[in-house]
Amino acid sequence: MRRRAAPRSRRETGFRAGPPPVDQRVNEAIEEMRMLTEVDLRHLRRCVELAAEALRAGDEPFGSVLVSGDGTVLAEDRNRTGSGDPTRHPEFELARWAAANLTPEERAAATVYTSGEHCPMCAAAHGWVGLGRIVYAASAAQLAEWRAEFGDRPGPVRPLPIREVVRGVIVEGPVPALTDEIRELHRLRHERARQSG
Ligand SMILES: [Zn+2]
Repeated sequence: MRRRAAPRSRRETGFRAGPPPVDQRVNEAIEEMRMLTEVDLRHLRRCVELAAEALRAGDEPFGSVLVSGDGTVLAEDRNRTGSGDPTRHPEFELARWAAANLTPEERAAATVYTSGEHCPMCAAAHGWVGLGRIVYAASAAQLAEWRAEFGDRPGPVRPLPIREVVRGVIVEGPVPALTDEIRELHRLRHERARQSG
């Protein structure tokens, strides 16, 4: 279970509750990063490998892994939008795989690891299917920022955070240790698109 850094009780000190001070927020962010285990990082690294594989195959650099409540890798996929179907996102494929192959209890106990935060379509599929925790390496905001930086046109779907699309799902990320590697994959994708366009 996730543990939150215990905020010092404001009732005891008599201070009014306002936004938490910056150092408290920094400590909470550090605490949240500590919650990611070596196992989480291993699964995320596999997502990045899948994203690199997708890029090599001419698709967009995204990869995802579905892990059961007991830690078994159940399924993995990578982006396949180069096929001409722009909905072939790995998170969407994993949600549909889970609907076909797992009980509702198994879905709720499972974790989806992914190289980039779910888009609203995939977040909705995740929510409808009742999957559990999500751990992403790069956030939708980071991806949008990089696209803008590379001079790409924004995509047709708004980059909403998962929490704005799905209720009650535990979402963790971004993971700074993987940021440079993922940004580089997206930069290469941009270069390829620029050269072929
Ligand atoms: Zn998606």
